[in-house]
Amino acid sequence: MEEVSLKYLEVQITDSCNLNCKGCSHCAGIVKGQQHVPLEVFEKDLVRLKELIPDIEKIRILGGEPFLNPRLTEYVRFARSVYKESDIRITTNGTLILSKDKEFFEELKACRIGLDISVYPPTHKALDRIEELLDSHGIAYKCTQKIEKFAKRINLAGDSDMEEAFDSCNSNMCNFLRKGVLSPCPAPVILEWLADYFGFEADTEPGKLNLHDLSLNGRDVVRFLNSPNPVCRYCTEMEFFDWQQNASPKLEDWVVRKG
Ligand code: SF4
Ligand code: SF4
Repeated sequence: MEEVSLKYLEVQITDSCNLNCKGCSHCAGIVKGQQHVPLEVFEKDLVRLKELIPDIEKIRILGGEPFLNPRLTEYVRFARSVYKESDIRITTNGTLILSKDKEFFEELKACRIGLDISVYPPTHKALDRIEELLDSHGIAYKCTQKIEKFAKRINLAGDSDMEEAFDSCNSNMCNFLRKGVLSPCPAPVILEWLADYFGFEADTEPGKLNLHDLSLNGRDVVRFLNSPNPVCRYCTEMEFFDWQQNASPKLEDWVVRKG
């Protein structure tokens, strides 16, 4: 029988970020202090994931800002030991790359781990130096264009057409894992955080799957990750705004329609 495979998975190892972008798609701005997914939890999750889905083409280790995680190299070393052939990269805002030493880059290189750099305005200012440093250590990396716009798309009424929202969505291939919970995208997790922080109700459970549920099989998991689910009803047409840092998050930073 053909091996179960998945094209793309994001694994969140840190919830906090040093940039605090308004409307962050992972809600880092409402996370208090430095919060990391414990290494032991990450390891247990990857071992279980490998049992269910032996082949994942691309794995992105991200946050928040994963470079804030003091044990980052241990996470990537473990990821490589489990998924030996996957294209594994760290997704980062790049602003902490210059603070890393030779040993750090040697570890990345030994594990064949590259970087995906999201070029926000503060990253852009240091980009020449970042690229020079990465080139000098032989690290593979890709940079986005300079990011000057963000988008929001939450409809708190939760009455959007589920299939339509999913089909028009850029995130429907952003399969997501954090602390033993799988979801087709980060929305079920961030919606839950926003609901707790701003005090509203949202039913996010149908968008989440407990990775450690022993009744799961890999094919069903892949089907769940690649299909619309009721949480898509909280997504509507995107509204764009200028990128900015934001010291005091407001619900409007994420929400298009309040219902
Ligand atoms: S850099 Fe990325 S993770 Fe950090 S606040 Fe901005 S959008 Fe969120
Ligand atoms: S909840 Fe559905 S529609 Fe919304 S971002 Fe995720 S996959 Fe896309």
